[in-house]
Amino acid sequence: MNDDLRRLKDELGQARATIIALMPDEIRKVLESYLTQKREDAHKWEYEAVERILEFAQPRPAQEMGESLSSTQRTFCPLCERNARPGTSKGYAFPRALFDHLLGRGNLYHCPVFRAALALARDYFGSRGSH
Ligand SMILES: [Zn+2]
Repeated sequence: MNDDLRRLKDELGQARATIIALMPDEIRKVLESYLTQKREDAHKWEYEAVERILEFAQPRPAQEMGESLSSTQRTFCPLCERNARPGTSKGYAFPRALFDHLLGRGNLYHCPVFRAALALARDYFGSRGSH
């Protein structure tokens, strides 16, 4: 059973690494930048990475994104290209809703790409702390 668990954990780690590897180079560098961080900066790293990902977004006027009730700029997620609401093409209000999507806050769908990066980073920081 322990072997099975270990194998599953390895497989999961590889699947997460594959998600990151499929990202464009510039984005991948940000998502892998935890590798150069100290464990005590882990929390800070999460916010810095989100800030840097926000720079890849291309916010457009709400009207252009089909949102007539708001004047807040909107954008698709630069990582997973999802929308805040399924079945629409209005993207996320920028930057607040995109920020929440990346960190899985509120009731917004947690970005699967950033979620994988967070899990890899937390494993990495966790393993460094216990040795
Ligand atoms: Zn996303």
